[in-house]
Amino acid sequence: MKIDDWLLEILACPACKSPLRAEAGELACTSESCGLVYPVRDDIPVLLVDEARKA
Ligand SMILES: [Zn+2]
Repeated sequence: MKIDDWLLEILACPACKSPLRAEAGELACTSESCGLVYPVRDDIPVLLVDEARKA
């Protein structure tokens, strides 16, 4: 699974609006105070706070 760079640039954490980075097939919020990690299912990032886990 590969998240394209252009896609990462337009995605933001829905909780805090910080940029996201691809990490082990998931998308991690770059804000340390937020720390949410979003799943990617079938190459589709699931940017829902309810679906996220705490890193
Ligand atoms: Zn965040």
